[in-house]
Amino acid sequence: MNTCPICKSDSFQESINCPKHKDVICMDCCRQCEHYDQDKPHIAHWCRYRPQEAAERKDKITAIEEQIKFLDDKQDRLFREGNQRKAEDVVWEIVALKMKKEGLEKGA
Ligand SMILES: [Zn+2]
Repeated sequence: MNTCPICKSDSFQESINCPKHKDVICMDCCRQCEHYDQDKPHIAHWCRYRPQEAAERKDKITAIEEQIKFLDDKQDRLFREGNQRKAEDVVWEIVALKMKKEGLEKGA
């Protein structure tokens, strides 16, 4: 009998080979996973987890975080130099990047 690595249950009826945990997990945990496709529970490919995609998304988020950090510093400098208008432009750039980052995190 398998034991689910997430809920430690060994009394489940259905199980699935989870690509994210690289282990057999119970269907209850699979259904609770953020990658479980709620819209298509009746088809076999309910799991939307794609290791390649996840890695690429993580790279993108890291790149955006670095960009935000860079712009934060730039904005600080511009404010200190009294370059109010330029600094405000940078603020909007940061807001746009943060929204982009949130969008990526939601899809993760
Ligand atoms: Zn479980």
